[in-house]
Order: sequence, then C-alpha cells, then structure tokens
Amino acid sequence: MIVRRGVSRPSIVDCPLLNVEYNMRTAHRTHTFTESVIREMTRVANQHGAINLAQGFPDFAAPELLKEAAVEAIRADINQYAITWGTPRLRNALAEKYRRFYSMEVDTEREIVVTCGATEAMASAMLALVDPGEEIIIYEPFYENYGPDSILCGAKPVFVPTRADGGPDLDATAVAFSERTRGIIINTPNNPTGHVFARDELETIARLCIEHDAIAFTDEIYEHILYEGEHVPMAALDGMRERTVTVSGASKTFSITGWRIGTIVAPPTLTDAIKKTHDFLTVGAPAPLQEAVAAGIEGLDASYYSELADDYRRRRDVMYDGLSAAGFSCRPPAGSYYILADFSSLSDLPDDEFAVWLAREHGVASVPGSSFYSDPADGRTQVRFAFCKSLGTLERAAERLAGLGARGRSGGAT
Ligand code: GLN
Repeated sequence: MIVRRGVSRPSIVDCPLLNVEYNMRTAHRTHTFTESVIREMTRVANQHGAINLAQGFPDFAAPELLKEAAVEAIRADINQYAITWGTPRLRNALAEKYRRFYSMEVDTEREIVVTCGATEAMASAMLALVDPGEEIIIYEPFYENYGPDSILCGAKPVFVPTRADGGPDLDATAVAFSERTRGIIINTPNNPTGHVFARDELETIARLCIEHDAIAFTDEIYEHILYEGEHVPMAALDGMRERTVTVSGASKTFSITGWRIGTIVAPPTLTDAIKKTHDFLTVGAPAPLQEAVAAGIEGLDASYYSELADDYRRRRDVMYDGLSAAGFSCRPPAGSYYILADFSSLSDLPDDEFAVWLAREHGVASVPGSSFYSDPADGRTQVRFAFCKSLGTLERAAERLAGLGARGRSGGAT
C-alpha cells in the first residue's frame, strides 16, 4: 500500500514488496509554515465548480505578439538552457524598459537576474543576502510567500501593521528597525491591500534603510496595474539604488502567470550572490519564453500599458460594486488586482469556513483573510477576491454574490 504524505494514516506502514517505512522524517524548516492557502483555494474552487477569484491568475488571453514570439522561438529550436541569469535579448529589453519608464540605468551584464517568476526571485534574493538570525521587516497584511521566504533563509520576520487605508504605519516601521534588521519587504502596488506606496512613504522607509544599512526587497510585480497615483520604484530614490533588490516579472503585465518569467534588478555586489542561489536552484528560466517576453517588451508601446490599466480599472469597478452591493465592506484598491473585503455584516463564520462555504454554496472562491496575517485572528472577518478575470466572469460572480445579503447573517452557518 502506498501512503501519501499529508494523509492521516498509521505512523509506520509496511510495504511487503519493498519492506520500507514510508513515514520518513521531514526537515524542521518545513514544519513552521503551511502549504499555500491561495493555491489550496484553487483546489477548493475546482472541487465545487466555483468561479475562481482566489488565486490571482487571468482568465483572458495573453497578447498575440508574445504568443507568436513564443511559438517562433520554439520553432527556431531555442530549446536549451539560456545563460543562467537571463538571455541577452531579455536583459537588454529590460534595461531599456527601466530607462524608459523610470529613468533608471541598469547594467545588462551585471545588474539583472532573470528568474522562474517573482516567487523564485524573492526566494533567491533572500537566500543570497540574508543570514540566519537576521530580521526582515514585513508589512501586514502581506502576500503569503514572504513569511516562508524569511523562514527558508533562517531569518526572523518582524511584522509591522498597515493603516486602515492600507498605507504603512511609519512610526511602527521606525520602531521595527534595529541593528538586527537585514532588510524590509515592500510590495507596491500591494497584494492584498491594493495600496500604492506614495513617494513620501518610500522616502521615509529609504531613510531608515540607509540609517540601519538595510536592504529594500521590493516586489513590484503589479507595477503596471495602477488606478491612482504613480508607481515609484524604491531603487529610483536617492541613496537606494545600491541597497535595493527590485523584483518584478512578466506574469501580471502580460497575463502569463504560468510562463514563470521573473526579474531582479540589483547592484552587482548583490547580484553576484543572487546569481549563485538562482543558478543552483533552477539553472534558469525557460529559454524560449524569455525570448517571447523580450519581444513583448520591445514590441508593445505605451498604449499597451495604459490599456492594461484601463481594462483593470473596469474590472475593479465591477468587482468593487458587486462586493459593496452584496454587503461586503471594502475599499477600491489604488493598484494591483485584489480586494480585501470584510464580511462581518454577512456571516459569523471564521474566514476559512466562510471562504469554503462561499465557494460551495454561492460558487465564488476567495482566499481566507487569515492567510495574510501573522496572527490569524487579525484576518478572521476578511476574504480576498482577485479580479484578474474577464468582465463577463466578474459580472457572473457579482450576480452570484448578490444573493448573499438576502440570506442574512445566519446564511453562513450551513
Ligand atoms: N500572486 C497571486 C496571488 O496572490 C498568485 C500566487 C501564486 O499562486 N503564485 O494569488
């Protein structure tokens, strides 16, 4: 009998053929965090045939130009390993993009690492730059990867609250910095709050980084999904270029989350170390898809990026109106494609039970709020909805949610 890990069974299982014990010990570091709740909710959505507003991936097509370029690259037999830190064409295209959008000068040979998604970018960067015992400051609510990222490099996450409007509590940030601080993670536009860090907020954090000789790890994967304000890369601020690891990628900008193309821009002293962790973890990102992303960056002009934001603004409005009409309490995000919504006027269930109930009974999957907080109690009345879906999908979700209020608070107790 084969016993899968994670399934509750007797602790030791005899296999008559192989005579081995299947219940092998696992490393301690994996015991301190759970599997991704976001990805788990995709499984729940599939199980109940629910509209998946849990995991943030688009249900609409990628730009033709990228798809054609990917096909062409495979037809041209670009099938083997690329240079581990990225194909020259993609690194050149990226450097040109950072110059065009943010007036940042980037050395294509020494300051770019192309990774398997922003997820690997964050993990590789932290593994390369953070020593066990050092502290990493993380704003909460936070994207769930940052906790495990810290734990995997032996660091101690130090959580700092955000204000009710999603902005950082700067006084608490100043208190959190100490001689043990190695870095701070800044995700702007933010998942899950939708906050877009303002220039003056970033300047205050920058001063603290400089004062404490800390690194800013910025996750800017939603940089082009912006409804209000401007996207300010931390690296563009005075004194921050040499201490910022700028993470981004193609997943959200080109609606290709499954291609796994992420990017890091950082000064050479930092990339020299990051290249090593990245190389030994993955060797490199998919070569033909790097060519296609380069073609996208080269070939799509400013109108592509403004249409992307306009399309997302329409999706945001449908989602926000739908949630408000259904009785959720939430704010329209300034960027990214999530709404963190409070459901306490609709149900007394805790967030995880509410999310499963909502998927099962109303056919809309969300992510339990507790997965974005260090203390699950802080997210007990919240769920997160991702609106990176076609307008038709969002309108259907809004219709399904419209019945919620009518069932009253007891509706959740099935
Ligand atoms: N960033 C997306 C989210 O928060 C997708 C996460 C993932 O599964 N990599 O839902």
